[in-house]
Amino acid sequence: MKQPLMITQAHIERYDVSGPRYTSYPTADRFVEAFDASAYVKALEQRNISAWTQPLSVYVHVPFCESLCFYCACNKIVTKRHEQGAQYLNYLKREIDLHLSRFDHPQTVNQCHLGGGTPTFLNDDELSALMQMLKQVFVFEAAGEYSIEIDPRTVDTQRLQHLRDLGFNRLSFGVQDFDADVQQAVHRVQSYKQVASLMQDARNMGFQSMNADLIYGLPKQTPVTFRQTISQIITLRPDRIALYGYAHLPSRFKPQRRILHEDLPNAVDKIQMLSEAIQQLISAGYVYIGMDHFALPEDALAIAKQQGRLHRNFQGYSTMADQDILALGVSAIGKMGSTYSQNAKTIEEYYDYLDQGQLPIVRGLALNRDDLIRRAVIMAIMCHGELSYESIELSYMINFKEYFKTELQQIEEKQKQGLVYLEHDGIKVTDMGWFFVRAIAMVFDRYLQLDANRARFSKIL
Ligand code: SF4
Repeated sequence: MKQPLMITQAHIERYDVSGPRYTSYPTADRFVEAFDASAYVKALEQRNISAWTQPLSVYVHVPFCESLCFYCACNKIVTKRHEQGAQYLNYLKREIDLHLSRFDHPQTVNQCHLGGGTPTFLNDDELSALMQMLKQVFVFEAAGEYSIEIDPRTVDTQRLQHLRDLGFNRLSFGVQDFDADVQQAVHRVQSYKQVASLMQDARNMGFQSMNADLIYGLPKQTPVTFRQTISQIITLRPDRIALYGYAHLPSRFKPQRRILHEDLPNAVDKIQMLSEAIQQLISAGYVYIGMDHFALPEDALAIAKQQGRLHRNFQGYSTMADQDILALGVSAIGKMGSTYSQNAKTIEEYYDYLDQGQLPIVRGLALNRDDLIRRAVIMAIMCHGELSYESIELSYMINFKEYFKTELQQIEEKQKQGLVYLEHDGIKVTDMGWFFVRAIAMVFDRYLQLDANRARFSKIL
């Protein structure tokens, strides 16, 4: 797809509305407590009958962090007590056993992601034990994607080699910003040199893909400093870059109360940082994937986008087809068939369930027919940038134009704004529309349309 020449500040100002990131539809805030472990087990039994040959994706949440980043909105436990890692592994083992006892067949895994928190809070032996635990009970495909989030402050060359030896082939570096003042203001100090050296090591070790997370809108950031950060990351040439907007919601996320309001960039500067970052990355050869993500043209994600094979899951865009996700660890979210489920959010509750020999699932959702139809529509827009009415009509036996009469009126507005082409048999996202694809997807979100209170979501950009 041809990249747009310029996303201006005016565009960003115009389409900057609140909205979810659609790593799932319905979004996790719609999960209900009525969906519990027994509902999950039913979904798992269904997999035993109809989908057990499909490879699983496994997500493991490691909640611990050694120090607190002030912008943090994740579910984490800040502690220096590393002995907590061993205890957590014991509980993960119990949780894995509870899942396994319900599978009727051996399970193949082609995707495994360790997220957090800080997965590298665990020491080398603990990470070995965790991977061994998983590999003992699941068949890991040789060509699978095995990734881990890296806090550069917690790894060195030796640790990276250990991760490579354990079979990880993808790394995601939490970079955020290279400016020293910004790093101090968010309480996350890690030098450019440190990150550059780790990325070079990782490349030499044969990691297939490296991602760098960046955040704009942080305290002490200015368009000048952020331009420099983007230039620096471009010199490191990670295969993928995620560029997130910081949403300052101190009433919801306690760590953010440590950020001084007067240190935050104003809305105009924030927009300038985003538009310039987009220009810099695209000029440097990165392809815009959609929803905050960029990739080098030769990266699997960029190729998948070009070939219309992109998918989306809780980790963002993926090349792997929509598959069941087995979620392990406190607060982890999984997907089984047409259901989503989430584990207990506090470690005490999580341990408590497992002490009682119960799966720690506390909420979730069984998707109804309307959810499934809308999920297919939203994912087609977000992953392929186009939607064929006929494909939805054939899959769900509906008349698209009748079913989505109101939504299509709103889509007409998006057409006037230059975000989509409305054709007689479908919708196509324009080059500019890719940058605001969330706003287009939101039109089809029934929950959001019914819900006037959008303030709880982070800013769209
Ligand atoms: S941003 Fe990441 S590393 Fe920092 S406190 Fe939050 S979870 Fe931990």
